Amino acid sequence: MRYISTRGESSAVGFTDAVLGGLAPDGGLYVPETWPTLSRERIAAFASMSYAEVAAEVLGAFAGDEISSADMLAMCEEAYATFSHRAVVPMVQIGPQTFIAELFHGPSLAFKDVAMQILARLYDHFLGQQGRKQVILCATSGDTGGAAVEAFRGAKNVRVVVMFPEGRISEVQRRFMTTAVEDNIACVAVSGTFDDCQTILKDAFQDKVLRQAVDLAAVNSINFARIAAQSVYYFTTAAALGAPARAVNFVVPSGNFGDAFAGYVATRLGLPVPQIVVATNSNDILARAFSTGRYTRGGVLPTFSPAMDIQSASNFERLYFEAVQREPVETARAFEAFRTSGVIDIPPGALTYMQARFTGVAIGEDETLKTIVSTLNETGELIDPHTAVAVAALRHVILDGPTVVMSTAHPAKFPEDVAKASGVQPTLPRGVANLSGRAERFDRLPGDGDTIKAYVRAFAEG
Ligand SMILES: *Cc1c(COP(=O)(O)O)cnc(C)c1O
Repeated sequence: MRYISTRGESSAVGFTDAVLGGLAPDGGLYVPETWPTLSRERIAAFASMSYAEVAAEVLGAFAGDEISSADMLAMCEEAYATFSHRAVVPMVQIGPQTFIAELFHGPSLAFKDVAMQILARLYDHFLGQQGRKQVILCATSGDTGGAAVEAFRGAKNVRVVVMFPEGRISEVQRRFMTTAVEDNIACVAVSGTFDDCQTILKDAFQDKVLRQAVDLAAVNSINFARIAAQSVYYFTTAAALGAPARAVNFVVPSGNFGDAFAGYVATRLGLPVPQIVVATNSNDILARAFSTGRYTRGGVLPTFSPAMDIQSASNFERLYFEAVQREPVETARAFEAFRTSGVIDIPPGALTYMQARFTGVAIGEDETLKTIVSTLNETGELIDPHTAVAVAALRHVILDGPTVVMSTAHPAKFPEDVAKASGVQPTLPRGVANLSGRAERFDRLPGDGDTIKAYVRAFAEG
């Protein structure tokens, strides 16, 4: 299986290099040269397989012959044994045709664990094979950092630098990162927004001097392995509800568009999905793009769902590439112009392609909090603010057939806001370490690319 860049200027690479490389050298994102497919029989068979078995089969289709199926299965079994629920991604029903998929039973209580746990094993496998050491540079809107720290702490071949926007993430989110005692982990509070952190990350990856000194890797959802790993739960949940004979819709709380794009990837592999509803908070760049055809960056507003406080959704470039019929010159033009202008006018044909698959809905703060209360009253389920954005979005769309809402975080990850909305204090699940009793360790840096690059270099050498 070969991977090409959405911008067409980098040469095609194998799965290993696409995973270890993260962003393509030309600034584009890797996508498979051709989409693998799964037969209807295989998808139907997923209903009676374990999560790890389905993951091994789906990821195996993306890895091709670069990982043996026995190794892949062993890695998936180990990765998903870290989850506290035997089903890994269990579902609960909240309405006649509506289900919530609980993606938050991993070690950091957010859906990012689903991909990060397997990604850490893939890194270990590939870096060990090549006798190589890497520094993972990670920008987090709150949850990626915690999932990365949980997955990589103590790893032999990997050091991790996590940047988070100071003051814009919850205390529990911060503590999942800053209380790690392993010295291969460094956390940086950046004065700025998540988008600022993401810009610094992209610049660092394009800095040839830095990349010569430091073997840099990315585990943000620009890494295709994360997308591939996230497509797995679309298959397991849909198969449990009768796919492929029954087509299942999804509602996805979205920020960087990795999760919702993973749903699209599942459709390319053969899963029938009539609509993917992209639910955003008031940082609604995606919702606006799908309804108006203009992808325009706005200012970032802090919300109750901080992991979605994003106004520049990296993975949108992957969808754009598909929607313009894989035209790399047009994709490069659009996203290079976006960097400075902050605007892309989606060509009409591409917009039609997107609207046939995605509906965008933006939800305000008031409605988010009210949805936490109404869901609790109507179903007894306590949901977190990110999930609430998605549940609220359901009321704004008409969908035919069963629908799965992705629940991306445990309510105890946002205890103050959930308690304020619902009057119920969410408790951390059994087995989660007492985060508040532990010392924190992080550095504060200005949102300045050069300062952070110097820091990364020093940490890599230290
Ligand atoms: C990261 C995150 C999201 C957004 O996912 P994207 O893949 O960035 O769209 C939603 N909810 C939670 C809790 C998250 O951590």
